[in-house]
Amino acid sequence: MSAEPNPSPVEERVQALLAQMTLEEKVGQMTQIDFSVVSVANGQDAENPVDQAKLDDAIFNHHVGSILNTPTTPNNRAQPIEKWRNITQRIRDTAARSRLKIPVIYGIDAIHGATYTQNSVLFPQAISMAATFNPELSFKEGEIVAREVKASGLDWNFSPVMDIGRQPLWPRLWETYGEDVHLAQTLGGAFIKGHQGEDMAAADKAPTCLKHYVGYSYPLNGKDRTPAWIGERALREWFLPGFEAGVLAGAPSVMINSAEVDGIPGHANYHYLTEILRGELGFKGFTVSDWEDIIRLHTRDKLAASPREAVKMAVMAGVDMSMVPFNFSFYDLLLDLAKSGEVPVSRIDEAVARILRVKFQTGLFERTEPALPVAGYFATAEAVEVNRQAAREAIVLAKNDNRMLPLSKTASILVTGPTANLLSVMNGGWTITWQGASEELYPKQYPTLLQAIQRKTSGQVTFVGGQRFSDEINIEQAVNEARKHDVVVLALGEKTYTETEGNIDSLALDPVQLQLARAIFEIGKPVVLVTFGGRPRIITEIADKARAVVLGFLPGMEGGAALADILFGDVNPSGKLPISYPRVVNDITPYDHKPIEAYETNQYRPLYPFGHGLSYTHFETSGLLVKPAQIKAGDSVEVSVRVKNTGTRTGKETVLVYLNDIAASVSRPVKQLKAFEKVELQPGEQKTLHFTLTAQAMSFIGLNMRRVVEPGDFKVMVGDESVPFSVLPN
Ligand code: BGC
Repeated sequence: MSAEPNPSPVEERVQALLAQMTLEEKVGQMTQIDFSVVSVANGQDAENPVDQAKLDDAIFNHHVGSILNTPTTPNNRAQPIEKWRNITQRIRDTAARSRLKIPVIYGIDAIHGATYTQNSVLFPQAISMAATFNPELSFKEGEIVAREVKASGLDWNFSPVMDIGRQPLWPRLWETYGEDVHLAQTLGGAFIKGHQGEDMAAADKAPTCLKHYVGYSYPLNGKDRTPAWIGERALREWFLPGFEAGVLAGAPSVMINSAEVDGIPGHANYHYLTEILRGELGFKGFTVSDWEDIIRLHTRDKLAASPREAVKMAVMAGVDMSMVPFNFSFYDLLLDLAKSGEVPVSRIDEAVARILRVKFQTGLFERTEPALPVAGYFATAEAVEVNRQAAREAIVLAKNDNRMLPLSKTASILVTGPTANLLSVMNGGWTITWQGASEELYPKQYPTLLQAIQRKTSGQVTFVGGQRFSDEINIEQAVNEARKHDVVVLALGEKTYTETEGNIDSLALDPVQLQLARAIFEIGKPVVLVTFGGRPRIITEIADKARAVVLGFLPGMEGGAALADILFGDVNPSGKLPISYPRVVNDITPYDHKPIEAYETNQYRPLYPFGHGLSYTHFETSGLLVKPAQIKAGDSVEVSVRVKNTGTRTGKETVLVYLNDIAASVSRPVKQLKAFEKVELQPGEQKTLHFTLTAQAMSFIGLNMRRVVEPGDFKVMVGDESVPFSVLPN
């Protein structure tokens, strides 16, 4: 390791510790195991799930640097917070008895709240947070999630997902902030800043982990963990910038793409992991493999001829920590490779220094007990209120013919459909369990959509549906009941899922849901369509006939209450689509498509475009100005626009500022979101908003694969207006 001229205190400690470590202790730091390796049998239900002898072996004999997950993978299940505190305390105490007292860093998938701690505050999933277009809410979510993770005694959050969601079939679309780069950068960056604060060592802050570097989200066939074919230019323009923003926001760890891009598995990609991530993005933290992915370079990808070669390949490509996760094979193989000189000790020192640095930066060495008490930091009233606000702002009113909504609180309503009376469908995967499907484990104090409707209205509410997603719905009964009510709330969508378990072959809605909808429409009663789920399943036929359409996506635990608030007008909707909602199964053109995708017979023709979302009031934007009209490459322009509430209710509007580079050496998208702001306006109130579009916003990946601003004409678009400006040749 090269000594720095003036090493910081952290750097001095890292180097001093590294100098004392044996090779075994170093290789151990790079090893991450699943909790089940140190757990008693049926650990989920055990009072004390830690098997101390196994834990001693992991820490004293294998020197493991990290543990993840809950006692019984893959049947992970949320644990009481006191149990978590005891579990992590045992691990802390055991590590404190090791030769060098190096703490274990405990990682968990707290992707919308402390997933695996019972009764944690579970937010809208990322796709829904994106629909809020509200970075302040994302920042607050980050603060709350970090607090609840720390109050649980845990250290490190495998979140946020900075993959860009441009393949709607992909079963993890909803874990992303949607299809747009700028939106994902803004929301993800805000989450990280809230989660980590200025100082990650603070008791209520915790390190984040950017996932899943890079290109994971764009499988050609839509199935999880299958190949993406992304050229380097597209990678740099659409898929890298999210990670770049995450690195800039200070995320100290990065998890690697489980699949492959352009024929190279993520875990073997030196170019991405070392040259780009470190060399170009300037990432200084450590990388962690995804689940079992190093060994899979051999067992699955057939890139490595043996497990040993797989370990060498991954470590030399730039993987610093291996989520092994069920044994010590990585430890044994890497030790052997290091002893034989096939993996140089300098590479191991580099990886270990990166891991230790984060352990020092996050204050782990100073921690002798859980960083925070439970009272005042976990499931607080204030956190619940932020969650409620997030859910309210996440819901998208997509259609509202003849002011069908809000509904009257005296109307008689038939509620039917498979997503009407379940909490799981609003929360998605990584909720209490991995797949999020264990409805019986959901906290009962949160209302489903049906229950929330029942609480709000004095009119008659009848429900025809099931208690599980797969329950058959009696269509005849639903139709008969529909006849007797003023309005039908038809709740459709998806059951919960994540990863490969959520793979589907088509975005088409389940045929039974379509049958139910068709039968209801036949009798001509007004229908409000509500959808929940992680992907935009095709609802075109139903949406055309419904009087109103409300897209819920995955609004979290407060989703039922928030949706009912919107249905009855207690809350004015303000969510906007963070993805293009396809009209037909195979037309998945994103909003920032190329001119050729809207040329001759080609069209951008989604059911609802990116950024779409109605309100119970009306907004108008006008007076768009861009100054100056001519700039030099490298300079910025100032944009201003007025937004006015021309309706009769207070509401929130997000003003979206798009840019188009009219002619360039590489084909440019017809428009790209470059700035946005959400404002609340009273009826009649107006505000002038100001934005700066920098050279970065005008740049693209040029012919030589570098970012460039080319001279020429641009146009800025807001609402119906568009204003040109030019970048002059130098
Ligand atoms: C997922 C990651 C997750 C990890 C640990 C993997 O299967 O792809 O997103 O962080 O498991 O649970």
